[in-house]
Amino acid sequence: MQQGTINVQTENIFPIIKKFLYSDHEIFLRELVSNAVDATQKLKTLKNIGELKADITKLKVEVILDEKAKTLTIRDNGIGMTGEEIEKYINQIAFSGAEEFVNKYKDKSEAIIGHFGLGFYSAFMVAENVEIITRSQLPKSTPVHWTCDGSPNYTLEDTQKKSKGTDIILHIADESKEFLDKARIQGVLNKYCKFLPVQVVFGTRSESIEDGKDEKGETKWKSVEVPNVINNTEPAWTKAPADLKDEDYNNFYRELYPMNFEDPIFHIHLNVDYPFNLTGILYFPKLKNNLEVQKNKINLYSNQVFITDNVENIVPEFLTLLHGVIDSPDIPLNVSRSYLQSDHNVQKISNHIQKKVADRLERMYKEDRADYEQKWEDIRVFIEYGMLTQEKFNEKMDKCYLLKDNEGKFHTVEEYKAKVEVLQKDKNGKVVMLYTHDQEEHHALIQQAKNRGYDVVLMDSPLSSHILMKLESKHNDISFVRVDSNSVDKLIDKGEDVPSKLSKEEEEALKPMIEGFVDKKKYTVSVEAMSENDAPMLITQSEFMRRMKEQQMSGGGGMMIGQMPEFYNLVVNANHPVIGQISASKDEAQKKALIAQSMDLAMLAQGMLRGERLTTFIQRSLEFIK
Ligand code: ADP
Repeated sequence: MQQGTINVQTENIFPIIKKFLYSDHEIFLRELVSNAVDATQKLKTLKNIGELKADITKLKVEVILDEKAKTLTIRDNGIGMTGEEIEKYINQIAFSGAEEFVNKYKDKSEAIIGHFGLGFYSAFMVAENVEIITRSQLPKSTPVHWTCDGSPNYTLEDTQKKSKGTDIILHIADESKEFLDKARIQGVLNKYCKFLPVQVVFGTRSESIEDGKDEKGETKWKSVEVPNVINNTEPAWTKAPADLKDEDYNNFYRELYPMNFEDPIFHIHLNVDYPFNLTGILYFPKLKNNLEVQKNKINLYSNQVFITDNVENIVPEFLTLLHGVIDSPDIPLNVSRSYLQSDHNVQKISNHIQKKVADRLERMYKEDRADYEQKWEDIRVFIEYGMLTQEKFNEKMDKCYLLKDNEGKFHTVEEYKAKVEVLQKDKNGKVVMLYTHDQEEHHALIQQAKNRGYDVVLMDSPLSSHILMKLESKHNDISFVRVDSNSVDKLIDKGEDVPSKLSKEEEEALKPMIEGFVDKKKYTVSVEAMSENDAPMLITQSEFMRRMKEQQMSGGGGMMIGQMPEFYNLVVNANHPVIGQISASKDEAQKKALIAQSMDLAMLAQGMLRGERLTTFIQRSLEFIK
């Protein structure tokens, strides 16, 4: 037997390894199973290039749990190692690799993406003793047995082993006994190993199979134990798109997210091998108006090994609304998250994905407009998010952005402009696009606008107030105005004044009279000549004021106005008969009642009439109809 001390500079790397990434101890299993898979793949390569004469039996990796002996074994029938190789790969390379890793990251609190790089030695995060029993594929090689108790001291001796391959036996430490629990191991394997390219087996599971017929001729069932295979070795993203049907993509979606019952709307299959390696499938889920954190995240894989479902810093944020898989060995995994964004490859990969997504949407728009329109409401928020945050994406999608008109028809911005231009151009030549965020709430106002021959676009996405500004900045001859931001005559300022029934003097006398009845901190009173058919009074909030408020509420704009007060315009319709009556009346009590009633009606129309004021309004109205 040979004993030795592993040559490490750092006094004791094991305590550090043990403490490292405390919550992520489970990744030891991913590292060891990945090594085992690599060992089988190497054997396959040798066979393919003709360097291996012997036949290879079915390649597989087994994970064996022995609760009584407190061991977890990772067994492969791969390439194996000779004594010299153990010396080289385990004692030297793996150790120095682990040491380098620890030196680099021991002071960094920030998580390293994927925590790759620790490799074989991550076993010591959970084991107090690790054994390797291995036999190399080389003819006549002697099997060897290596042990190490977590100090730099190890033993290495010849041993007996019939088949080639490697057993890594972990004697699980007391503080890590959670890894002696079958369900826990199954969970970890499901998370990291679900799509590894070589079969991974963990114990057995029972399955019902047909067992002839009983006397009544009914099928009998019996339960049999079958190998519990963890993985699908050929997940959809590794196949050629030409070999897959829509159904296959949907099935794979369900395999990825078994708890999700809604099919995605469409998918994009990514497949690049130069200048970087990237495969994957991105799915567009039905988003509706929902921007809340999506439960099904994009999963990042590296050569079919699961790394993380946190892909921020790898793709632009709006893409994280998508679901699916990205697999790229070219994304560096042993670097900190903040470093990732500046990484050249990551940037290229990110740009590529973004471009693919934009190209696909553009193609859908161009090739099947009807279908695109049908999907629009489900993809709109996603597109808006992208347009608002990524200029390149905005450039492309601006032409494919759809506005929904009065009748539920869709138009691009340019198409819509052409449609409403004749009636909705203001005196400065801008086409005013009237919009509402809620057709119910603005029902009366929309009706009034329609009566003028205007159209009202529905902008009801959570990002609407931002996107309309984006569209305005791109198309400088349009402006969006919400249907409640002015009296209908003034929504589009055409420079034509409606004549007033009141004289200048009467208007001037009316203004302070009404101001006496309203809260001046909240309302600015103005007397305007509107149509007789409009209400006597109208409460509006200017487009500008409302946008400022909305910006502030959604945290955007970076404005420092603190808590902005509610501020409205009270527009008095000089041409309404009731206002004429108020202006002419000498009876103070009657005047007061008419002003209050008109004001309350204006508030009612805006959904602002509540509480005591509402009660008084009802009583006063009853008086009027007596
Ligand atoms: P890495 O896998 O990143 O090279 P590891 O520390 O995980 O680093 O492993 C070091 C080396 O030990 C591997 O490169 C491989 O040569 C060898 N090795 C580890 N596990 C096995 C195994 N199950 N079968 C054969 N060789 C192995």
